[in-house]
Amino acid sequence: MRSERLEVIRQGDSSGNGMIVRAILCSGRALYGFATENFYGGDWDLGPTWNYLVCGDKPFLVDAGRRGTGLHLLEMIASVGFDPREIETIVVSHGHEDHDGGIFEVVGKTGARVTAHEAYGCLMRPLPGAAPSREKARFPVSCWCCPMPISFSMRNCLDYHAERAKLTISDLEMNGGAGIEVLHTPGHSPDAVALLIDGEALLPGDTILPGITPHPSQERFFDIVRPALPKKWREAQELFGLRAYLRSLAKIEQMAGAFGDVLVLPSHRLYYRDGFNHIGLKERIEELLQHHFDRCSDFLRILNTGPQSLQEVARQHFRPELLKGHGIHLASDEVASHCELMAASGDVVFLEGGKLIATGTKNFSSFFGPR
Ligand SMILES: [Zn+2]
Ligand SMILES: [Zn+2]
Repeated sequence: MRSERLEVIRQGDSSGNGMIVRAILCSGRALYGFATENFYGGDWDLGPTWNYLVCGDKPFLVDAGRRGTGLHLLEMIASVGFDPREIETIVVSHGHEDHDGGIFEVVGKTGARVTAHEAYGCLMRPLPGAAPSREKARFPVSCWCCPMPISFSMRNCLDYHAERAKLTISDLEMNGGAGIEVLHTPGHSPDAVALLIDGEALLPGDTILPGITPHPSQERFFDIVRPALPKKWREAQELFGLRAYLRSLAKIEQMAGAFGDVLVLPSHRLYYRDGFNHIGLKERIEELLQHHFDRCSDFLRILNTGPQSLQEVARQHFRPELLKGHGIHLASDEVASHCELMAASGDVVFLEGGKLIATGTKNFSSFFGPR
């Protein structure tokens, strides 16, 4: 497998924090991976964020870790003998803080240009007149649908947003340039992209991770954030929800699958619990499809016992330790994403007051291909 070609430049801790790896592609191009710390813990631990430096005529960095880790990232980049000021561009894999929080610091030191999918630029700024609540008016549009309570956002996110709002973002060129193919892969986040480098290495961001499944967004978010989006996006599933996510997996498989055994470099858990996670692209995509299929099946089984709220379904499906603290919000959102897909196939109906009922059909499998 190609991932066996990864060379450890610096060892990190058992989760990979502080680790540096390198891959030299057959094209001769060097890619570096730098793992910067994340501070989430417990059962929702993702491990560090893996940020990648793609060398070549126009070197670029994909992501810059969480807020507060940008300078550490620059030190790591310098430690491999690469002058960070040579970084021309920072590509944002998607607009989550564990990927773009460090960009402000990195730009301050390098002057690099920041580029992201068009939807990122639309959603990263506040639009007070259209915000769904007074409190949300202070936050960028991307936060209007955050599952966390507003008290959490007030405490943790304001500084990050203030910094991010100062950045100039240019739209990512979807034709990428020599050897670089860019795919829009919404689902986990509306602005997610995957990059294929020389047909040999795939940087899927959070869209494909080993061992964990990225949290899908919800189609209902589309109507909420629509005032901030250009008119060309007409349907929720072009940007949001589990259907978008499944389609993105299919697009990635189609693009990268044509090249055979691709080196997959995910944004989390490349290395975890003292070992590398080698990703076979086809197999991992199949596992992800099966995971969401099984989840839909179980939510439908629960709903077949009678009308229930998202939280009630979550409490029956997820292990109690995953529901502690903010876990219940994340778990309920996960149920909502799957139920939207099943509502689209007619298996579930959303009732007034937030409850759901099953209709007795099981048509959702049509979204997953034969299994
Ligand atoms: Zn993410
Ligand atoms: Zn992430």
